[in-house]
Amino acid sequence: MTDTQHRSAPAATISSTGADALGVITGLQTRAITAPLVRPWGHDVTELHLVEVTVSTSSGITGRGFSWTPTIGATAVEALLTADIAAFVVGAPADPAALWPRLWAHLHEAGSGGITTIAMAGVDLALWDALGVAADSSITELLGSRRDTVEVYGSGVNRHYPIDDLIAQAQRWADTGYRMVKIKVGLPDLAEDVDRVAAVRDTIGPDVALAIDANQLWDLPTARRAIAALAPFDLRWIEEPLRADDLAGHRALRDSIDVPIALGENLHTIYRFREAIDGGACDIVQPNVIRVGGITPFLQIAELADTHDTPVFPHLLPELSGQLALSLARSTMVEDVEDAGMDRLGILAGPPPISVEGRLLVSRGLPGLGLTFTASPKGSNE
Ligand code: MG
Repeated sequence: MTDTQHRSAPAATISSTGADALGVITGLQTRAITAPLVRPWGHDVTELHLVEVTVSTSSGITGRGFSWTPTIGATAVEALLTADIAAFVVGAPADPAALWPRLWAHLHEAGSGGITTIAMAGVDLALWDALGVAADSSITELLGSRRDTVEVYGSGVNRHYPIDDLIAQAQRWADTGYRMVKIKVGLPDLAEDVDRVAAVRDTIGPDVALAIDANQLWDLPTARRAIAALAPFDLRWIEEPLRADDLAGHRALRDSIDVPIALGENLHTIYRFREAIDGGACDIVQPNVIRVGGITPFLQIAELADTHDTPVFPHLLPELSGQLALSLARSTMVEDVEDAGMDRLGILAGPPPISVEGRLLVSRGLPGLGLTFTASPKGSNE
């Protein structure tokens, strides 16, 4: 890692210091946003969705967060926010860490994770944003900045790419100078996966780390067979080889392979991560800050992982994950899916709070989360 460490930085904290100044929540509004993808994530995935959540407080400060629902659930998430969550949170203290367990208990009948936690993330992010605005601090500064930069790795949602397009993408990553890249595997024919991984390894050379992502497509025997065939290409990790909540299966697989297992983009809340880590199901955790329920549980998960010496590689959303990564105790890398950044999709009204320069994200120190969305996508859809 090439991160620049701040030796005397304060530790990141999950206590939302300064929340008293915000008073109580006085209102919650939502707005659905759709962004056409520059590079479709599949033949049937041509656009992404998110729900902007705006929370007003008795202090007069407004916070803005979002629930990220790329392909599934935007309508349900917005309905949960407007029909159930708004009535519960209005009048409550505008303190994200204090509100989170109360709101989760209130919603638990609807499910302990998934739509529930994705909707909760919108509120949690809005409150952390308001805290940052009140303190005139970026979320990184609010949590305690530990480094100035964090490395980015190139990631492709490319299982549907013809092999020539996959090789061209790998070449773009190599030209950019990424020190790690990740591609999809899990095609019906294992020989095709082998050909594609071999071609990418050949393109990026031996010195660039290569991870693969099966997106839960294998069962245990298939995963063992596939990883035996793919491991010779020097893999940094295998991501979601099995159904994400099959912890026993992941533990059994982990006992029989040498490639590290990465898991977490489809786990929700600190409780599921504790089971995965304590249960020996994975070597690396990848919390998605939205799916876990927001910044409050994300910080708890990062802290838990750190106490177990388990690396944390945040899932997607580099505009937010990058800011959080700057405050994490352990250096990490942030995932940048080619041409899928919020700026590239044209959904940011202002400048992104981070800049992607080669392989680095650099904090610009905007107050709060620094994310302001447009009324409609303004980017081109090539
Ligand atoms: Mg993945």
